[in-house]
Amino acid sequence: MSPTWRGAILGRWAAGLLGSVVLVASLQAQTLELRFLDVGQGDAALIVTPEGKKVLVDAGPGASPIVPYLRSHHYDTLDLVVASHNHSDHIGGMPDVLTTTAVRYYLDNGIPHTTATYQRTIRAVQASGAQYLAASARTITLGSARLRVLPPPSRQVDQNNGSVGLLLEYGQFRALLTGDSERDELQYWLQYDSVPQVTVVKAAHHGSPNGTTAAWIAATRPQVVVVSVGAGNSYGHPSLDVIEQWRGAGARVYRTDQDGAVILQAKRDGSYIVLNERAAPTAPAASAGTPAPIARSSGATAQATGACCRVCTRGKACGNSCISRAYQCRQPPGCACDARP
Ligand SMILES: [Zn+2]
Repeated sequence: MSPTWRGAILGRWAAGLLGSVVLVASLQAQTLELRFLDVGQGDAALIVTPEGKKVLVDAGPGASPIVPYLRSHHYDTLDLVVASHNHSDHIGGMPDVLTTTAVRYYLDNGIPHTTATYQRTIRAVQASGAQYLAASARTITLGSARLRVLPPPSRQVDQNNGSVGLLLEYGQFRALLTGDSERDELQYWLQYDSVPQVTVVKAAHHGSPNGTTAAWIAATRPQVVVVSVGAGNSYGHPSLDVIEQWRGAGARVYRTDQDGAVILQAKRDGSYIVLNERAAPTAPAASAGTPAPIARSSGATAQATGACCRVCTRGKACGNSCISRAYQCRQPPGCACDARP
């Protein structure tokens, strides 16, 4: 073979490979991730937008593994950090985050707390150079996603009922995170704010009975509910009644104490898949035997099926997506190329 021919073939092969890489990159670039991290008894969630903007909502208790997690993903900058409220199961990990990671903006509920953890956190915010944002009614643009702040009632002094609410919107995909809000604050938002139907709700107050109401369920009507909770916690969280209420309304419920980290990968059309770190040991036998599809597909996903064949260059195939090898795949075989039987 002449050098010219060899060059032409190599060039075509390289162009094809480059095309595949660009295709895979552009498919991945359209995905927003909402990751509920397993931090034991506490809350921590990370939002990663298609443009790579990162928002940390709460940082778990003091011993939470947030900093090692951020390091392992090479996340050295957070565009926004939100403390839903100033209890230590939400801000215990905050000083470490603020002293090891560049934080552009910091937002909390503006309600001081008496604990040493709160004092350490505020000192770390001041030393970090992060710009402080009050929890006023505002919408924060994060590339192609938006974060609407649901402020707590003015003059509220209770931490739980003074939690900052967040409505994450990425096209048709919506998620509500409301810290440890209890009945009073949920009712306040229903009365004075516009609470839409959403795709995902983080069960308020770790699935406690005071963090869910029938009116809240009726307004939000999520397909997925995530309970951030530690195994064997002394509070009795979550309430099994609360879990049954959400399930009764048609939601699929995930718990970080049983499922590990719960990750939603969402597209602008509202379609999404749910990945969890480990299989739930107490999952009902029916779902363990023949797992129902975790992906709730909208019409748009069904339309995309014919064009979704992908080679997983990293991780493993799961349904029509590529996921980390560390995650359980609980979807039926899809159309990722190496997922075919
Ligand atoms: Zn809490």
